[in-house]
Amino acid sequence: MSQYLISRIENSSHITVYTESEIVALDGDRSLERVSWINLSTGERTVKDLSAVFVMIGAEPNTGWLFGTVRLDKKGFIRTGGADGFDQSPYATTMPGIFAVGDVRANSVKRVASAVGEGSVVVSDIHRYLADHRNRLSARPNSTLAALRSVDAATSGANT
Ligand SMILES: Cc1cc2nc3c(=O)[nH]c(=O)nc-3n(C[C@H](O)[C@H](O)[C@H](O)COP(=O)(O)OP(=O)(O)OC[C@H]3O[C@@H](n4cnc5c(N)ncnc54)[C@H](O)[C@@H]3O)c2cc1C
Repeated sequence: MSQYLISRIENSSHITVYTESEIVALDGDRSLERVSWINLSTGERTVKDLSAVFVMIGAEPNTGWLFGTVRLDKKGFIRTGGADGFDQSPYATTMPGIFAVGDVRANSVKRVASAVGEGSVVVSDIHRYLADHRNRLSARPNSTLAALRSVDAATSGANT
């Protein structure tokens, strides 16, 4: 969550913050009437008459499966970029040929327009990577890569 939102919540007289707490029950007949939560460190259970719950999702990257492959930051976001010397692309990860864009990328702007923009920009980096590496990657017969190589071979033959 953005710091400016955290500050607004902390400074609002209309909001009470329950930290280290987890919702354990939502009760009601035709609609929500009660919410129960426990404090994870004390075990204390609180029940309040409430008719609405807002769930904040999307702040935690689903990158557990990447541990041991590309480098992640402390929160699990994928580190990318020339500043770290990974490659000549701001979207290159520590694993050659793997790029990351959008929310999952460390230090990205977590906004739709930004994710879409990064996705469109990275395409040329991927094309460049494939052009530079396609002779080093193994190619199955009749694959696109095999076809590209035969075009390369024909073109270089025609040019000599
Ligand atoms: C509550 C909330 C409100 C927001 N409000 C705004 C707003 O008002 N304006 C704004 O600009 N931005 C807003 N954002 C941010 C915006 O949603 C993101 O910046 C944007 O969706 C990022 O796009 P993305 O493609 O990088 O990631 P996502 O949209 O998160 O897409 C990632 C996709 O990958 C899938 N996925 C995850 N793991 C795997 C896997 N292992 N294999 C295959 N698929 C996988 C997910 O299911 C998901 O479909 C909001 C975000 C949240 C959570």
